[in-house]
Amino acid sequence: MFFREVLGQRELKEKIIYLIREGRLPHAINLLGAEGSGNLPLALAIAQYINCKQKLPEDSCGVCSACVKMKKLQHPDVHFSFPTVSLGKQTPPTSKDFIVPFRNFVLQSPYGTATDWLDFLGKEKQGNITALECREIIQKLLLRSFESEYKILIMWYPEYLGKEGNILLKLIEEPTAKTILIFVTESVDNLLLTIQSRTQLFALKRLSDIEIKEGLQALGVDEVKALQCARIAEGNFNEALKLSQNSEDELLLLTKNWLNYLYSNNGLQLVQWIMEMADSTKEHQKKFLAYIIQLLEHALRLKHSGSQQMALLEGELKLVQTLLQKGIDEKVIPQMTGLLNDAIYHIERNANSKILFHHVSLQTQGLLLKQ
Ligand SMILES: [Zn+2]
Repeated sequence: MFFREVLGQRELKEKIIYLIREGRLPHAINLLGAEGSGNLPLALAIAQYINCKQKLPEDSCGVCSACVKMKKLQHPDVHFSFPTVSLGKQTPPTSKDFIVPFRNFVLQSPYGTATDWLDFLGKEKQGNITALECREIIQKLLLRSFESEYKILIMWYPEYLGKEGNILLKLIEEPTAKTILIFVTESVDNLLLTIQSRTQLFALKRLSDIEIKEGLQALGVDEVKALQCARIAEGNFNEALKLSQNSEDELLLLTKNWLNYLYSNNGLQLVQWIMEMADSTKEHQKKFLAYIIQLLEHALRLKHSGSQQMALLEGELKLVQTLLQKGIDEKVIPQMTGLLNDAIYHIERNANSKILFHHVSLQTQGLLLKQ
């Protein structure tokens, strides 16, 4: 990973590059970033730059043997540690058992989350970084480096360390020579205090809509869709990417059907719609709700400014215009978005989807038909 491939974070990247060039990067750092902010890509860029044999002032060279190996995540002096799941064997799992799928996962989705990773493995969502893993890390880092001056450990989601993490304390306090430990953390709340206090914190910023839009465009997403996804994703590139891969036609169709059934008071079809929605994943349900909220916000803007220059596709613009013609206004819209936001909140807290969508549907219908 190049620094230039890491979205946004300009100041932080400059600071880190400066510290590496001056030989002053602390030996244990904590890259803290919310989901989709890119702390793993940043860790990969740091590791590549430290090992690069022909560093450029602002990035790795990309062509030296170290860069070539890093590109495949196969540099012998860069070790990865990450949550793993039980293999049903007597010995606890370690990252070594999962390194091949892990490389594939990261190459495919460097902005992915631990949940995405566990989904990718297709296992139950019980991730863990085991005590055996911690001991193996210590063993690995005791060895001399193979090719590079530095040995680097990238630990992704140290939040998954239980008390086992304390096995690592001595290593963090008195690291073996020429060793850099990079912790890639999403939330300090779940990180052992003992690790927090022994690492230097580097916090990533929330990505701007423009940075996300540009990131999506670089992956071939067209501009209108990229901007639309960026606006919904609220700084989370991982989310934006998933949204961009989702056909918006599907979300639009779901929304149209739902509203149709509500307006026409078609109870039978509404119930069927609710059952299907309740059967989809929580992520999908949240996406659907966020999508309607976004359409409603557009409706409000359109009503106020009359401007049609918005990040809306043709079908979406038509739907928004129809809603306005039906009399949906600045009184109803905030009530509806309030309802939908509440629903997202409850989905995140594992509410029963069937009951929830039933409730939201009836409440929304009340608002729509009252006008
Ligand atoms: Zn290089």
